[in-house]
Amino acid sequence: MLQQTQVITVIPYFKKFIKAFPSVTSLAGASEDQVMSHWSGLGFYARARNLHQSSKIIVDQYKGEIPKKFEELIALPGIGTSTAGAILSLSCIEPRPILDGNVKRVLTRFFNISGDLKLSKTNNKLWSLAIACLPEKDYSFYTQAIMDLGATICTSKKTQCSICPVKKNCIAFEKNLVSLLPNKTIKKKKPKQTVFFLILKDQDNNILLEKRENKGIWGGLWSFPELGTNKHIEQWCNKISQDIENIEYGKIINHGFSHFDLEITPVVIDIKDTMSLEDHHGRFTKKQISKLGVPKPVKSLINQLK
Ligand code: SF4
Repeated sequence: MLQQTQVITVIPYFKKFIKAFPSVTSLAGASEDQVMSHWSGLGFYARARNLHQSSKIIVDQYKGEIPKKFEELIALPGIGTSTAGAILSLSCIEPRPILDGNVKRVLTRFFNISGDLKLSKTNNKLWSLAIACLPEKDYSFYTQAIMDLGATICTSKKTQCSICPVKKNCIAFEKNLVSLLPNKTIKKKKPKQTVFFLILKDQDNNILLEKRENKGIWGGLWSFPELGTNKHIEQWCNKISQDIENIEYGKIINHGFSHFDLEITPVVIDIKDTMSLEDHHGRFTKKQISKLGVPKPVKSLINQLK
């Protein structure tokens, strides 16, 4: 959960998740919808799919015990070199370097490393330093300490060098370069995509949702059917119902992803007859939807529905 998300955001999701799935076995035995519903709103849903997938592999191949070998760990979905290193170091199995965002920031400043963090040249330099700094003894304390230093003191904003335990040897502090490091990546303007969400509602207030494919944005979640233009809305709806009572456009909402912005126009469509559903469709009450994995904008639009 902490990959690309801050602790403060994660805490309520983590508590709920651990309560629902207190062991690897319970997670492996859960359905995809149960897992996704507990991740709903946290974003980066591939993490949830990978975690679920990994729990099944751990139960099937490792009798429910997380493997202790580096090669076995990085073979699990969603676990890369740094995460595997953190698992092995923090659980005192063997010293392994880690290089998450916080550690990168500390090393960049402490050793005065310039260069774009997105470039492999800069990352290779940082990996060499992460390996060189890792002690043979007390490596679990070291690993926890450098992660915590980056998360609490050597932060990107409001860096607290005055209380930093390593300030005496920090080059960025000595040369007054703290605010310049890590070098900022020049951000390109994000492209914008527009979509129309079709919110089909029958007379009993059942709502049509479709299960998205297990890849791409919101993969594996339940969402409204969407169209790129509003030219064929009626035609599309006729596949589901022959008796459309009303079509109403709602207020546009915007949702930001890391690489693009999405402009969503909700279109509420009231139908009189029974919906004819396709395989990936489902007809749900609001209460049933609260138990499904749905993206944040879908959740807020459902909540607004009368
Ligand atoms: S002295 Fe400042 S910049 Fe250097 S490691 Fe400590 S908090 Fe980071």
